[in-house]
Amino acid sequence: MTEFDLIQTYFSDLGTRRDDVVVGVGDDCALLRVPSGQGLAVSIDTLVSGVHFLPECDPESVGYKSLAVGLSDLAAMGAKPLWATLALTLPPELVSGNHGWIEGFSRGFNNLARAHGVSLVGGDTTRGPLSVTVQVHGIVPDGKGILRRGAAPGDLICVSGTLGDAGLALAQITAGHEPAPRLRARLEQPMPRVELGQALKGLATAMIDVSDGLVADLGHILQASQVRAELALDALPLSPAVEDVVQRSGDWGLPLTSGDDYELCFCVPAKRVSEVPVLAERLECPLTVIGFVSAGTGLICRDDQGAALNLERGGFDHFIAQSG
Ligand code: ADP
Ligand code: MG
Repeated sequence: MTEFDLIQTYFSDLGTRRDDVVVGVGDDCALLRVPSGQGLAVSIDTLVSGVHFLPECDPESVGYKSLAVGLSDLAAMGAKPLWATLALTLPPELVSGNHGWIEGFSRGFNNLARAHGVSLVGGDTTRGPLSVTVQVHGIVPDGKGILRRGAAPGDLICVSGTLGDAGLALAQITAGHEPAPRLRARLEQPMPRVELGQALKGLATAMIDVSDGLVADLGHILQASQVRAELALDALPLSPAVEDVVQRSGDWGLPLTSGDDYELCFCVPAKRVSEVPVLAERLECPLTVIGFVSAGTGLICRDDQGAALNLERGGFDHFIAQSG
């Protein structure tokens, strides 16, 4: 099979066929129509085998996740996803012989792309160590993009879903244990909060997706917005599995600093916080208020006694016996 046949077979018709794709896979460039009054939102991510996913990871999950991380970035901007391009570097052993890996990858990518109306419009295929780069393209009405820099004192801080599940799954796999299927799915097939992101246009003052851990990612909002935040540890939304680890170890590292959850963390003005549960119900997506924004700098996490947790440079340390 030639390179051309490979692309034709596995990548020429992935995702949804869209009217705004004038030319897709097969020419020198894709030609795409951006509606007037909309800005183009673009984000790119690379997943390297052995770094961002385990080499033995099921290819369908790699295909799914390579698109999911980009869709999560679009969601965090309030953008609607439309198109994607894919740069795939494949080692010879995945190209010669049967194409099981490529076929599985293509299936996982296709499933998620179809679920969100995204069309794969082009890419590049090369030989080398296994690595996957996906660029996503979406649209957001002019002036409506939700930036990191809009948080203001008086805002409340919210997060979708639960935190720490992907980190727990990874810790279990690394320790040689088999995570429960639902936990493994949180790591390998995270659900990008695409609908939620768009629904928060006009309500959220700032937003980010939680890919590197809550403390690090909320930290980006605080830095960009030049504000300070306090989080209530007992308000953090935890799955029973993560709750159990936190209770037994007294260690908040999983929900605070483990990555890969791809939930959305956003700020809303306090006077509009009643709209949050309405949205949660409409989208059937759990949304939890976890803290508030104030003037100043830094991030404080308090337990139910008001004691502050010591967070060193995004890392996790221990409780300090003080409440100031
Ligand atoms: P060029 O030499 O012009 O860069 P290529 O041979 O790299 O063209 O690609 C041929 C066509 O196939 C292009 O339209 C390109 O966008 C598309 N393509 C190549 N690899 C992929 C891929 N992995 N997924 C989707 N489209 C791809
Ligand atoms: Mg090329």
